[in-house]
Amino acid sequence: MHAPKVQACVALGANLGDALGTLQQALRELDTGAFGRVLRVSSFYRTAPLEAVGPHFINAVALMETQLSPLDLLHALQALEHKAGRERPYKNAPRTLDLDLIFHGECELSTPELTLPHPRWQARAFVLLPLSEVCPERVSAAMLAGVQHQDIERLSITHQTK
Ligand code: ADP
Ligand code: MG
Repeated sequence: MHAPKVQACVALGANLGDALGTLQQALRELDTGAFGRVLRVSSFYRTAPLEAVGPHFINAVALMETQLSPLDLLHALQALEHKAGRERPYKNAPRTLDLDLIFHGECELSTPELTLPHPRWQARAFVLLPLSEVCPERVSAAMLAGVQHQDIERLSITHQTK
């Protein structure tokens, strides 16, 4: 028996080291099969830290197709963060790689380890703008209006999938 294929959205962010290179490497790894496969990748965005400190972030969102359960996918994402050298010295510390699970199909969960949809996705321009590129049906004009004051710039670099 195969687990059903589910569409999941993963938000990627980094603001330490070679942030763009780390995101591009993570996107390649998300597409190697262990996670499923990457269906679409948004533009890259450069954003000012929000509730966080340190250099600007590079952010993007990937739409995936996966057979992993929500928790298995979260753990696989955390292993990838760890591989990229992620440390958590304090809350909202600068990070080499942050991988947040925004949606896993229509799954709704509220546990300390995993909340779905991600609890703050609608408050963040760096999630909503890239998400509106890969998953426009999830994002409304009212949501975008709510984050229009946030400092965010779309970069002209695009991710080469293959
Ligand atoms: P941030 O909130 O800045 O992304 P972390 O990446 O350190 O901070 O995540 C803190 C905790 O959030 C993790 O230990 C993880 O278990 C939990 N968490 C809850 N829901 C989610 C989600 N949807 N995606 C990713 N992590 C989540
Ligand atoms: Mg995170």
